[in-house]
Amino acid sequence: MTAPYVTSPFAPRRRATREVLVGDVGIGGENPIRIQSMTTTNTQDVAATVEQTEQLAAAGCEIVRITAPSITDAEALAAIRAELDRRGVRVPLVADIHYTPNAAMVAAEHVEKVRVNPGNYADKKKFAVREYGDAEWRAEVERVAERFRPLVQRCRELGRALRIGTNHGSLADRIMNRYGDTPEGMVQSALEFLDVCESESFRDVVFSMKSSNPQVAIQAYRLLAARLEERAPGEPSYPFHVGVTEAGSGEDGRVKSAIGIGALLEDGIGETIRVSLTEHPVKEVPVARALAACYEARSKQPEVEAPEPGAGYCDDPFDHVRRASHFVRAGCEIGGEAPVRAELELGDVPEDAAGLARRLAVSLAAAPNIECEGLTVNVRSEADAARVETLAAELRLVDIDAPLAVVGPPSLSSQVPSAARWVVPLAPGEDPAEALGLDRPVELRLDGALVALPGQVDAVLDAARGRMDLLFSTGAWPPVHATRTLAAQLRARGAGHPIVLRHIGLGSQADDEAALLAAAIDLGAPLCDGLGDAIVLPAGKDPGRSLSLGYRILQGARQRTTWTEFISCPSCGRTLFDLEEVTERIQARTGHLEGVKLAIMGCIVNGPGEMADADFGYVGSGPGRINLYVGKELVERNVPEAEADDRLVELIRKHGRWIDVPAA
Ligand code: SF4
Repeated sequence: MTAPYVTSPFAPRRRATREVLVGDVGIGGENPIRIQSMTTTNTQDVAATVEQTEQLAAAGCEIVRITAPSITDAEALAAIRAELDRRGVRVPLVADIHYTPNAAMVAAEHVEKVRVNPGNYADKKKFAVREYGDAEWRAEVERVAERFRPLVQRCRELGRALRIGTNHGSLADRIMNRYGDTPEGMVQSALEFLDVCESESFRDVVFSMKSSNPQVAIQAYRLLAARLEERAPGEPSYPFHVGVTEAGSGEDGRVKSAIGIGALLEDGIGETIRVSLTEHPVKEVPVARALAACYEARSKQPEVEAPEPGAGYCDDPFDHVRRASHFVRAGCEIGGEAPVRAELELGDVPEDAAGLARRLAVSLAAAPNIECEGLTVNVRSEADAARVETLAAELRLVDIDAPLAVVGPPSLSSQVPSAARWVVPLAPGEDPAEALGLDRPVELRLDGALVALPGQVDAVLDAARGRMDLLFSTGAWPPVHATRTLAAQLRARGAGHPIVLRHIGLGSQADDEAALLAAAIDLGAPLCDGLGDAIVLPAGKDPGRSLSLGYRILQGARQRTTWTEFISCPSCGRTLFDLEEVTERIQARTGHLEGVKLAIMGCIVNGPGEMADADFGYVGSGPGRINLYVGKELVERNVPEAEADDRLVELIRKHGRWIDVPAA
């Protein structure tokens, strides 16, 4: 049996961890969630790196990472640290090391923390396929340990911290051959390095388990938390640096980051976070701060009552298995094998229902490729009911055939014949029997503390007497934990009714970015656990944009693919071209290719390894030169940058993955 990975899956409570000091900044223990980022300048350009580090610190970044690809770069860290000290900028620095143990030894002299990647510190990454016998495996582990040990010893002497930073896309061939590119392989890889640290009585260790796929990141961090608990049951564990790597830019990058980082913070996992965006690093800081603030606010909520001691809410928290549900036909099919539906909540219908229908049509037309699969409206009176009927007729006139879900008292249902399902908010203690007398599918929205009262879901199911066209949602708080509690209660009864995930609005968060991040957490985290048969977002001022966000969340949680999946690195001192500009250019040209995964990576040192499961890769190979990949295979070498976009498109065509941009 796997040890618990979290204090409780039903409440946002932090894992107990030891404190690791990085300079003056403590990670873990009682410290707040620390915010990190990474410079994108050439490390040997000391002035530029100092300047950017200072900008990051001023923006609220508490720890700054700088790449050290060579001994010369590692030596430059001394000048960078000295100049920052001279300017009174005390922010701790982390040297980022791949492939170069010698550079790590130099860097440890100058910075407060060293990050190593177990996949490439002393191991090979040539995508070679071969079997390792047990003796050969042990010899390899020992060889890597002996390469790593001097760094551990030096960090202990100097009082430096270490991050054992595993990446899904850059696992060593040895690990890949035995475990594949799995969370299990990532954890194994990290623990081999921890063995060396502990054998040297060195415990100033922070872990990361990054992936560009939020699902994989969530599973790997959970699995590592469980394995560490198995190694030292009941003891404070090592802190985790949480992030989703190569998340991309813009809304997609923020959504993916919020799903992965947010879901883990909701688990109570994550003592320091970095949001990796293909944008100027200063822009990462407010996103990371908003994610941390979202969690901090929720963790102050009173404890919700767990459904049952040891209750499970999903099939496997270490793997994605969609919760089995039966389908309900409510305008369209929800649940069962149907894709997770994307719907919008309109709220009250104004007197000018025709105007609303026209505004909707215009806004949704600006969001091609995606379909609104449901609209929720409120009905409180007979006048409201009449307006909804007018709206239904007007929607038909503007060719919107989204089924209507009506929130209101069951007594008004006969006056809204066009409602495809009736949504009944149920407060604690209310009798569900009246709602269940309706002659159409019913969604029971469990509000307030109801979801925390195990007996109430039982009462609903008893009153339903086997009725199948019943859906559940919850408006209880905090949303991720309320959804888990609901799922656990249904699971305990073996009830396969679909679950609708309703994003219940902004709460205290007012700006657009915070709203986007909260929606991505509240909807994306349950989806990654296999929970949710439909998502509903507030339509807001721009329904097309809200619906696009819904589909982006579905794509980020790997539930429905609508657009090209971009995996682009955040860039660093190794980057060989203007990554942000190139990414924007390629996105503009290829963003419509549904189901294609396209990687844009700054360098050939790490790029090919970290592209994970991309279909095509565009990777900087030298100044002004690009290597193009199909999967992991290098197919065109040193293409001049001016020609590389066209050659990439040609490659996509040649492999039958290109489609022309749909006519507007
Ligand atoms: S792939 Fe990008 S972020 Fe990673 S080392 Fe290369 S340039 Fe830096």
